[in-house]
Formats: sequence, C-alpha cells, structure tokens
Amino acid sequence: MVYLDYNASTPVDQRILVAVTESQCAYGNPASAHHAIGKAAAERVEEARSRVADLVGRPAQDIVFTSGATEAAVLGLLGTMIGAAGRPNIVVSPTEHKAVLEAAELGARLAGGEARVVRVDRDGVVDLDDLARLVDNSVAAVAVMAANNETGVVASAAEIAEISHRAGSLFFVDATQLIGKGPADAAAALADLMVFSSHKIYGPKGAGALVASRRVQKSIVPIASGGGQERGLRGGTQNTPSIVGFGLAAELAMKEQASDAARIGDLADALLTGLQRQLPDVYVNGGEADRLPNTLNLRFVGADAEAVMASMPEICVSAGSACNSAVPSPSHVLLAMGMSGTEASESLRISLGRPTTRDEVDVAVACISAAVSRVRELTRE
Ligand code: PLP
Repeated sequence: MVYLDYNASTPVDQRILVAVTESQCAYGNPASAHHAIGKAAAERVEEARSRVADLVGRPAQDIVFTSGATEAAVLGLLGTMIGAAGRPNIVVSPTEHKAVLEAAELGARLAGGEARVVRVDRDGVVDLDDLARLVDNSVAAVAVMAANNETGVVASAAEIAEISHRAGSLFFVDATQLIGKGPADAAAALADLMVFSSHKIYGPKGAGALVASRRVQKSIVPIASGGGQERGLRGGTQNTPSIVGFGLAAELAMKEQASDAARIGDLADALLTGLQRQLPDVYVNGGEADRLPNTLNLRFVGADAEAVMASMPEICVSAGSACNSAVPSPSHVLLAMGMSGTEASESLRISLGRPTTRDEVDVAVACISAAVSRVRELTRE
C-alpha cells in the first residue's frame, strides 16, 4: 500500500508516541488545580501551548486549544460574527475548506448579513481588485486560506491583510495546510485569527488551535463556554494526550519543516515528471501559482478520477478533499477555479509526506500510469 494522502491526515510521528501514551495514563483534569495530578496535567497542556505558539511565532497566551481546525474555524468565525456589532458581512474565498465556508455563511446569517464571495483566477488565486471592492466597513472578517488543501496553491497574505485592515476588518487565515510545510510566522504575524490542526502535522487527532491576540479574543463570543477553560473561549475538559502530541509535533515541525519541504518537493517533482513521461495530457491544476511542495492536483484528460482510484486500490490518493468524499460531486475548489464538472472529475489530489520514499514514488508512477491508461481505454471503447 502506498499512502499519498497526507493532506487528508498524517500518521502520528513515532518519536512522539511514547509521550502521547504516557499522558493518556496521566489522567488528571487540567482544571483540577487543587491537587498534584490535576496540576501535572495542566503543566503538560501549558508546555504544549508554548510549543505550538513557537511554531507560529506568537505568545503562548494567543493559543486557544480546540478539537481541530473545524472547531477552531467555527469558534473564530461564528464567535466573531455574533460579536461584531454593526458589521454583519463577511468576505470569503470560494476555495476555502467547507469548515470555513459553512462557518462563514452561518455566521453572516446569524449576524443578519451576507457572505460575499471574492473572485479567484484559474489557479485559485484571489483577485485583489475584487477583494478591495468587496471589503468595506460593514465587513467583520475576511477569510482567505494560507494554502489550499486540494491544489496546494499559496495565498499572498500581505496584500490580503492590507486590504482587510484598511477597512477595519479582521483577517482570518486557515493555515491548516501551510503549518509544518513551510514557515508560517509571516502569515501568523498578519492574521487576526488563524486556525490549524494537529493531525496534519504528524500529531494525534483531536487537537487544533485558534490563534488570536488577547484583544481579538475579547471580541469573540464563545460558542461553548462550559467550565471556562481556554480563557473562557472553549469550555470542556482539554484533550491532554492529543494536546501534548500536538505540542511535540509542532516542535518537530520547527526543526524539520525546511529539510522535509526540500526532500518532499524533490519527490513530488520526480512523481510529476514520471507521470508526464508515461502519459500524455497530464496537467497540474493551479500549476501557474506558488504551491506547497508536497501537493500535486493533476488532471488526467479522459480518465474519471473515481474510476482511476477504483482501478488502483494499492495507491491511496484522493479526488477532491477527503472531508467531502462521502458526496461524489466534483470538487467545489476546482469548479471555483473555472474548471468544468468533467475537467474537475478527471482530477486527482496526490499529497506526499515525511515518510514518503523514492521507492513509493516509483510504485505510484507505475500504478497511476497503468490505471489511467486502463480507464482511458475503457472510456474510448
Ligand atoms: N481546513 C483545511 C484547509 C483542511 O485541509 C482541513 C482538513 O482537511 C480542515 C480545515 C479541517 O481540519 P480538522 O480535520 O482538524 O477539523
């Protein structure tokens, strides 16, 4: 089996498994500050908070732990919209993850406004003139992701932040796919609200973060305030083992993301060159834009992606985003980039990760080429 779906989820790095398991056994509630076992759990959570904060170059107090990026987006966007008096509108890119699109739409509806959708070009890059036209003093937040989960296309955060801040709007950045694949401090310095997730950076599932300054945190209405954990923004007992793993995964990412990106980028280049040597009519979606080094969204003209995947069960890739895979419709990201339904349904997302090897790349080139050729032949018959 060759796993090439690291944008959907990553395996927990073996080097942090022992600490995660140990903290599974340290069962104290971090909110039980009146005894040693609770205090030990609280210390582990705070150590992890510092590690996650270091990865994005922000103070520890700016990190609010959640269960993942989806929950962080709901807290950040819904919480902002509910609290944003006089600013009922939000601006979003149509290529955002559904976690963000749906939170933005619900937030705007609850605030009595609308979600304004900015135009993107054929590579999925936001049209800055259209953005400037849409952002005014009725807009509470502008949501443009740091890097797209399907195409790997990276946004120009500086210009988007400038347009947002000029109108007094908050800049919301979904950094789930950028984190761990390249430096995120620049985007984190510009963002008023940023979200990401542990299970995309070789940490355990069940932990994520909303990054916001003290000032911005004060403007967020908590969705689940419960027992007042996470500075009153996210009630509920913290998931200590996952948070501990998230912190250690962040520490590893700090040390290794530059060398990982270089090695993984070379492997992705080899994969693309190999496929284009074996097959005619292979195109890179988002190919003209800056992209994450690990992500290839490839269109194989004349080969339906679902049929290709069914024909190579030993290769784990995806068509569109994993979170939408229960719904067999073409990717909303590729459609927003102006592709037709047929073009989008001929596209596969291949994402490489830390454990990917050259041998796996060679196997993938052989299997994908054979599967695409088979499907093309059957389609022509
Ligand atoms: N945002 C992006 C860009 C993603 O890729 C994902 C997961 O696929 C999410 C948000 C949701 O993350 P989580 O699974 O942590 O809720």
